[in-house]
Amino acid sequence: MNSTPENVKRSAALTDAERDVYTWQMWVPDFGEKGQQALKNASVLISRCGGIGGAAAYALAAAGVGRLVLAHGGNVRPNDLNRQLLMTHDGIGTPRVESAARRLRELNPRLLIETASENISEENARRLVEKVDVVVDCAPLFRERYLLNREAVRRKIPLIECAMYEMDAQVTSILPGKTPCLSCLYPADPPLWKREFPVFGAVAAMIGSLGATEAIKIIAGFGEPLYSRLLLCNTREMTFKTVQIKRNPDCAVCGNLE
Ligand SMILES: [Zn+2]
Repeated sequence: MNSTPENVKRSAALTDAERDVYTWQMWVPDFGEKGQQALKNASVLISRCGGIGGAAAYALAAAGVGRLVLAHGGNVRPNDLNRQLLMTHDGIGTPRVESAARRLRELNPRLLIETASENISEENARRLVEKVDVVVDCAPLFRERYLLNREAVRRKIPLIECAMYEMDAQVTSILPGKTPCLSCLYPADPPLWKREFPVFGAVAAMIGSLGATEAIKIIAGFGEPLYSRLLLCNTREMTFKTVQIKRNPDCAVCGNLE
């Protein structure tokens, strides 16, 4: 991963052309040019770039995160297109990550984008997490989520958890050793969780955008991330609330971490 061109790119100062693109967000108090430089220097892994992760990736690409690593297996199918906003009709039958990378490069050709045409597994989790500074977890299955949680805790890097079902959604941000990890929150795989579920693209994209907002704040070091807080969104009633969550001192994953 540490090839020379990448390091040169990552240490480079903002150019005038970049300042031009990011002007409006550099007006955000506490963010500014320093925050923009932090985004340019950052690497983010997005696990699955479908309904939630695609929106997260799009927002992070637009914001100027310097390097995105996309992990998502399989080819585009017609029934992806109601929600996987980076996939296009003419991409049906081709790898999802290729469609996603193409759309992101169209939006922001300055970005470095790495793709893995595979979902998170025991074989690739450590390798992918070692490449990045922050992980945005948008996978529907707990077996993938637990692997990312384990590796993020091992490396002590922030992990943003975005999840949804039907019209409900949850987001929290994990700072290993400081906040509850995913296993503190869900010690065992919830039995009802499944890969296929009712979903509108609008709800998935909202959650992805919230996850991207958390990533931007965490990378740039401003605002209050959802550390030790779980955001619960009910878009059927359009109510949002946050609840405090606590570390489990006996957690099998982060219990011994300081
Ligand atoms: Zn834990």
